[in-house]
Amino acid sequence: MKPTCKECSYMRVLGRAIHNGNNRGLKGPRAGCYCNHSRAIETFYRVCPRSPRTAGFIGFTYPGEDTPQTKTAPRWCPLKTEKYGDE
Ligand code: SF4
Repeated sequence: MKPTCKECSYMRVLGRAIHNGNNRGLKGPRAGCYCNHSRAIETFYRVCPRSPRTAGFIGFTYPGEDTPQTKTAPRWCPLKTEKYGDE
C-alpha cells in the first residue's frame, strides 16, 4: 500500500496561522504540515532540486483541522523513494 501523509506517523503540524478576521467565518486558521522523517530533507532536494517550496513541506490543512489536504504523499516522500526508487 502506498504511504499517505494523513495516516503517517512522520507528519507534523507546525505553524498554525493566527485566528483573525480573515478566517472568522471558517472552522479556524489553517496550519502547515511538514514531514519529520530523518531522510525527508535529503529526498526532497534529490527528487525536486529546483522546487521553490520549503524542504519537507507537505501542504496546508483545511481551516481548523489537523491533517493535510493532500490525499496521497508528495513525490519526494522518503517512504516512496525507499520502496519504489526515485522517479
Ligand atoms: S512525506 Fe511520506 S514519510 Fe513524510 S509524512 Fe508524508 S507519507 Fe509520511
